[in-house]
Amino acid sequence: MAKKRQPQCAFCGRPAEMAEFLIPSADEQQWICPDCVEQLHGMIIDYHKSINGGSKGKPVDKADIKLASVPKPQEIKAFLDQYVIGQEEAKRYLSVAVYNHYKRLAQDNDDIDIEKSNIILVGPTGTGKTLLARTIAKLLDVPFTIVDATVLTQAGYVGEDIESLLTRLLQVADYDVAKAERGIVFIDEIDKIARKGDNPSITRDVSGEGVQQGLLKLLEGSVVNVPPQGGRKHPEQKMIPVDTKNILFICGGAFDGIEDKIAHRMNSRVVGYNTGDKRLHLANKSDYMRYVAPQDLKSFGLIPEIIGRLPVLTSLEALDRDALRRVLTEPKNAITRQYEKLFAMDGVKLTFTPEALDFIVDKAIEFKLGARGLRSIVETIMIDAMFEMPSSGEKEFEVTAEYAAEKLGNANFATSTAPDAANQK
Ligand code: ADP
Repeated sequence: MAKKRQPQCAFCGRPAEMAEFLIPSADEQQWICPDCVEQLHGMIIDYHKSINGGSKGKPVDKADIKLASVPKPQEIKAFLDQYVIGQEEAKRYLSVAVYNHYKRLAQDNDDIDIEKSNIILVGPTGTGKTLLARTIAKLLDVPFTIVDATVLTQAGYVGEDIESLLTRLLQVADYDVAKAERGIVFIDEIDKIARKGDNPSITRDVSGEGVQQGLLKLLEGSVVNVPPQGGRKHPEQKMIPVDTKNILFICGGAFDGIEDKIAHRMNSRVVGYNTGDKRLHLANKSDYMRYVAPQDLKSFGLIPEIIGRLPVLTSLEALDRDALRRVLTEPKNAITRQYEKLFAMDGVKLTFTPEALDFIVDKAIEFKLGARGLRSIVETIMIDAMFEMPSSGEKEFEVTAEYAAEKLGNANFATSTAPDAANQK
């Protein structure tokens, strides 16, 4: 007589009542308990580590990077287009740099060493630098983290050690060192560690050159000891060695005032062999940004070694009215789409009239908040409706310019965000 099988874990034999729950196989004849799943997961990680060699043996398991499976530059750009408005040049540079980064990881003969193509994005705040880096990471499915250069200081001073930049990367990689070793780190506000003034004789520049020297080590690729919990190193903490050779660094900064340096360079270069008429005089100072070159970063206060380690230099432009309008509605996760989704979940069809969208853009420009301000403006306009709609039973909701103006006016938005606007540099 066939005995009916009682569910139990096929690995440890634990019966159903002693396990949190049991996961059945496809034919529902076998089961496994969560404890065994976890243990197996650990074994898989250990296995990967053993074949990758972590940070000790072979730096990266090239075998599993198949160039054919890596998206091509045009595909990368098309993906970025879904999320980021404009910034054509930056997208092209980034797409190529990332693709080359993978080529570098996949290369199998070592006679020509393809150098790492770390990237530096220069452009005003709120123009999509972080968004670009974040979107790239989403596409590539590698550990990605954003760190802020302003928290760093030279060893021996107050602040965080340079190596702590990699702590977050380790954390998002679940402390899988091999995985972290080919992640992407976005270093924001790199301009804030510039040397003050183009004057090497300033020796006690705690926040500037010393930090840049420290950062250099990371950018050029070396094994560094990372404090697993971040912050400052202390003797009791066990460090994790991480090889940065294959980590892609993307740096971003607003570099306020760099336009002057670009204009100066471009205008003085032509003097001497021309009448001066040929000098490039652009209507807006911000138009110079797209001509940014490595020597401008040097004039701004980055040391040449750092600039050398960030070979891909590209700029982002300030978003004009038209671009801001598109940011509101076009990206895959555009702000208005997010609100439409929120309302739809309550069975309410939300619409914004074109005039309402224009109004929101006008306000973002008026308050000098750029793309960053769009969200907080829309949030302020929508708060009452979000509070009331779920209980009102209504099926449609239209945001008009009048409604938006009324809500924004009531919230006294202009004064409440003024300090923020000032902080926006
Ligand atoms: P930053 O250049 O200062 O790094 P962010 O990428 O953080 O700017 O942009 C802030 C927010 O503004 C983003 O989360 C996004 O919602 C919006 N934004 C900025 N630039 C763009 C853009 N080019 N396309 C779409 N959204 C953008």
